[in-house]
Amino acid sequence: MEQDELYLIKVGEILLKLGNRREFENRLRAGLKDRLAGIRHRIEYQPGRFFLVVEAGRSAEVEGILSRFPGINGFAKTRRCEKNFDVIEKAALETAALAVARGKRSFKVESRRSDKSFPKDSAEIGRDLGHSILTAFPETQVRMTGPDFKVHVEIRDKAFVYGDATKGQRGLPVGTQGRGLLLLSGGIDSPVAGYLMARRGLALEAMYFHAWPYTSEEAHSKVKDLARVLAAYTGGLCLWTVPFTEVQLAIKKGAREDLTTLMMRAAMMEIPQTHALRRRDTCIITGESLGQVASQTAENLRFTEFPTDLPVLRPLIGTDKEDTIRIAREIGSFDISVLPFEDCCVIFSPKHPMLKANLQREKAAYTALNLGPLLAEALEKTEKLDIAFADRIVRGKSQR
Ligand code: ATP
Ligand code: MG
Repeated sequence: MEQDELYLIKVGEILLKLGNRREFENRLRAGLKDRLAGIRHRIEYQPGRFFLVVEAGRSAEVEGILSRFPGINGFAKTRRCEKNFDVIEKAALETAALAVARGKRSFKVESRRSDKSFPKDSAEIGRDLGHSILTAFPETQVRMTGPDFKVHVEIRDKAFVYGDATKGQRGLPVGTQGRGLLLLSGGIDSPVAGYLMARRGLALEAMYFHAWPYTSEEAHSKVKDLARVLAAYTGGLCLWTVPFTEVQLAIKKGAREDLTTLMMRAAMMEIPQTHALRRRDTCIITGESLGQVASQTAENLRFTEFPTDLPVLRPLIGTDKEDTIRIAREIGSFDISVLPFEDCCVIFSPKHPMLKANLQREKAAYTALNLGPLLAEALEKTEKLDIAFADRIVRGKSQR
């Protein structure tokens, strides 16, 4: 026990409301069990607070995991000690020392006393510890609003002392909102879209349409790497690779040139529709953003989603590319996405694509292509790759 480390885990208030707390605890337990494989750990709950106890010496791994766990708002390494003022003071000075070493100077002590039998009230605890810190570190000053750092003290069954929390992902635990099917290309947008929806509590499956040899094996392995980046946030996912060449060629041969992209995008909705229903995925996720390319006008989105009756979630619909890139950098997908292997859309792109599809007319054109048998065959030959949390790629800062 002595050698263990303790983390206070802060979660969104809503998760602590009646009924949700258990679910959150179960998700946390199950999610951490996988992610912390090989590290001894335990989760404790006290009113309003989760604690993670882990074996000592694994802080970097544990903090990397907690900072990528949707549903966690923040976490802080915590000292748990006897309810004796001298012991608490020592813990507070150790906490302050870490912040001072990082160049922080102004501080505030936040204290909370749940155990009213403790001889000092919270105001006294704050004042006395503030005084101790000022004496030990003469370079510091007390600042009640906007301090550089805070030292928190909570008097409960034991005393808990901790410094500033590291920011977590916020959002909801993966799986609390069911599972969605992410259309994952090798581009910048779709991994970010998947990440944003995972943060809203969706577990993910990913589907990639591979038009070999028009798209290279490198393009495929790039998509696998992007799925591995997502696994750091979701805890793992399945990647389905659909052999799409025959479908592409049939479209190129049979469709009017200005409609080829639209026809392909509609086919890229028809396959997921069937797959998602079989797998009980409740929605489809894409990286589309209004007006970004010709196929992403409102009229064209209306047409391309006609083959599915599932909700098509497009978390980037109103996001500027610059903002998407910033998120891609933060989550560590950007450097993979910008590797120079083209996806199939680029190769089969028409020179003057249709900008405003007419739903009825283009639907008729799509039906005339009679892609049914080819789509069924493509789905039949789809390959599954299980990506476990242990396969994750961790780059970037990952603190949102
Ligand atoms: P991205 O950067 O995500 O590739 P994009 O801006 O290049 O997006 P499109 O190529 O039109 O836009 O693709 C729009 C969306 O369709 C993508 O975000 C992705 O969800 C899906 N998509 C496109 N190509 C593929 C593919 N080969 N496999 C799976 N999904 C795809
Ligand atoms: Mg693309």
